[in-house]
Parts: sequence; C-alpha cells; structure tokens
Amino acid sequence: EAAYAKDDDATRASDTLLINEQSRLLESEGKRVYKFGFGQSPFPVFAPAVDTLAEHAADKDYLPVQGLPALRHQVATFHGEVDATPWEASRVVVGPGSKLLLFALMKALPEADILIPAPSWVSYAPQARMAGQRAVRLEATFETRWQVTAEHIEAHCQAEPERLKLLVFNAPGNPTGLAPTVDEQRRLADVARRHGVLVLADEIYGLLQHRGEHRAFARDYPEGTVTTGGLSKWCGAGGWRLGVMHVPTGLGSELFARMLGIASETWSSVTSPVQQAAVTAYTRTAALDAYQQRQREVLSEIGQWCAARLNAANVRTHAPDGGFYLFPDFEVHRQALAARGITTSAELTRRLLEEAGVALLPGSAFGCDPGQLTVRLAYVDFDGAALLQSTGTVMDHEASR
Ligand code: PLP
Repeated sequence: EAAYAKDDDATRASDTLLINEQSRLLESEGKRVYKFGFGQSPFPVFAPAVDTLAEHAADKDYLPVQGLPALRHQVATFHGEVDATPWEASRVVVGPGSKLLLFALMKALPEADILIPAPSWVSYAPQARMAGQRAVRLEATFETRWQVTAEHIEAHCQAEPERLKLLVFNAPGNPTGLAPTVDEQRRLADVARRHGVLVLADEIYGLLQHRGEHRAFARDYPEGTVTTGGLSKWCGAGGWRLGVMHVPTGLGSELFARMLGIASETWSSVTSPVQQAAVTAYTRTAALDAYQQRQREVLSEIGQWCAARLNAANVRTHAPDGGFYLFPDFEVHRQALAARGITTSAELTRRLLEEAGVALLPGSAFGCDPGQLTVRLAYVDFDGAALLQSTGTVMDHEASR
C-alpha cells in the first residue's frame, strides 16, 4: 500500500501518452514532428478477420468468461504449432487486451516479488504495485544487450529464498527490440526451475520476430511459464482489445480459478464480434502466413536500416531481433550533452522534440535510472498498408514512388 501511494501510479499519466499530446501541440503550431514515440502497429488488420468482424457485428450475447470455446481451441492449436510447445485450450483465458490479463495474474498470485527487468515495458511495475505486490527491479545493461541474466535471478533468490517470485520476461522486448540467445534463455529457465520462480512470458511481439525463429519461453520451462499474446501487434488490432493467456496445468487449479474469478468480476467477457474475428485471425492459412511474413520483412529492413544509421552517426544501438523498437544509448555523448544542460533521458527527449521535432520516449519511462541517456525509438511511422501490398525491399518501394 505504501509503495502504491508513494509512486502514485493511479494518478501518473503514462509517459507514452504524454509524448503524443506534446507532439500534437507542436503540430497544431505548424511544426513538423518526426514521430518515433508512440508504438502502435503500422499495419492494417488482417483483412479476413475484418470480414468476420463485420459478419458478426450484430452478435449481442455475452460470451463465456474464459473466452469463446472455439477461440480458445484455435489459439491453443495456433500457438502449439508456431511455438512448438503444448497449449491446452482448457487453460487459455481470453481477455480485453493482454495488459489486463497481466494485471489479473499479478492480482491472483499470493504475496509475491515481481521481478521486473529495467528497461522493460512501462506498465509492469505500476501494475505490480497496484496489485499489492512487491516490484523488484533487475537492472540490465547495454553490454548484455539489455537482457537480465541468470545471475540476476540467482542473486535475488538467494537474498529472498522464502518469497514467491514471478519473473516478467518479454521478448522480443519493448523497449529494446531484443531477445536473449537460446543459451541465455535456457540458463534463465534453468535458474527459474531450480528456485521455483514462475515466469510470465509476455510474447505479444513473438510473431514479429524478424528473422529466424521466435523461441517461446514455455519451450524451455513449460511447467512454470504463463504466456501472454494477442492481436495487438502482429494483427495490427490494438484497439480491438483482445489478448490471450495460457496458464499451464502444472501451476494447479487454484491460481487459475482466481484468474477466472477476477475476470468474471471485472471484464465479464471480451466483445463477441471481436472474439469471432479472432477465431479467423488465429486460423493458419497461406494468406495469414504471407501477411505475417511481409510484416517481418518490412520491420526487419527498416529496423536494421535505422540501427545502422544511428551507429554510423555515433549513437550506439543494437540491431533489433523483432518488434518495432530500438533502444539507442547516448552515453558516449554524455559530456557534450551535459555542456548543453542535458543530464537525464527525460531532458534529452524533451529537447530533441523541441529543438529537432523528433519525438522519442525517455529510458526513464521504462525503469532506467533518470541519468542514463537512453531513449526508445519506435519505427512505425510509415505507410504499413502500402508496404503490406508491395513486394521486394522497402527501399525498392520508396524508389518507385
Ligand atoms: N506488453 C507489451 C510489452 C506491450 O508493448 C504492450 C502494448 O503496448 C502490451 C503488453 C499490451 O498489449 P495489449 O494491447 O494486448 O493489452
């Protein structure tokens, strides 16, 4: 309770939304703004899913709290195949976005430490505190490609052996665009298993792994991994508010029952037409494969290009593994920036917006120390619909316009 009041999570406006407001203000004054702040999918929703939504527009009934059985079945089949790890339809929960599912899980746990990497997505720590849990920060560095290590987890487990622990794991990550190597992931899974740490694998960007294979965390730790996903990123449908969660049977029936209890007392069920549309989205077809593949190609090319340009301009950043973010680090410019009065990431992003019209988010919004000069860059301000229709490279497409 004390932490909740101190951090005032309930009244703090999300940094990601603030940057939007500031950008709009500058634009209303006639200034050009380069939008790298807000991270929403630039691609249109998968068209067959839109058709299904329209066909079901008149559906008016509440659906079962856990989710439409046909959808749970489809989601389990889909993820079972693409992630090569078993999902059971009876243990899938459908919610209004994965965000609320994450919160419901934290709320459903008995008293726990929620281990949250820094940097990581803005909402994990406020959610943990609002759920009455202890948020524990695990600090990662540029050198480890912003990954928390097995040693981080080991150290915390040794310091707090008695407490239940939930590790939040998000790959490809927001804000970094990065995923651990297979070896690193296995080591995390091993240490989690050894100490009985639960893992919350937020794999909302899993289907947007650019190249190679997304390796679901549940593949390495099936019995202890709760996985979330949904339509917001790979299906371009953030505003539809449809998320999914898989809770393995190994975690027992009590936690699961509490999740469903929270669902039934809060959101009741996700909108019927959206659940019907999601059945289509989660049915593998050649058209769906092509839709996903094209998104990965486009995001990969743009992400690699942005990273190369930044590195060439002496702003260090890792080339992304997936999703649509980069996490550049201005550390080597610390002195020059300090000479201009810039000593925090918040000041850096404020000045970049004011002086150069470039909208970015500060690393501090993602749990980094305020004085660490990192920013999140979302590379989504392009014509996703046109690029989805096109073939060849993004550069070819641009040249032909
Ligand atoms: N997790 C991460 C890492 C995200 O970036 C987002 C969306 O911004 C979410 C979860 C929430 O997604 P949803 O739209 O499913 O609630």
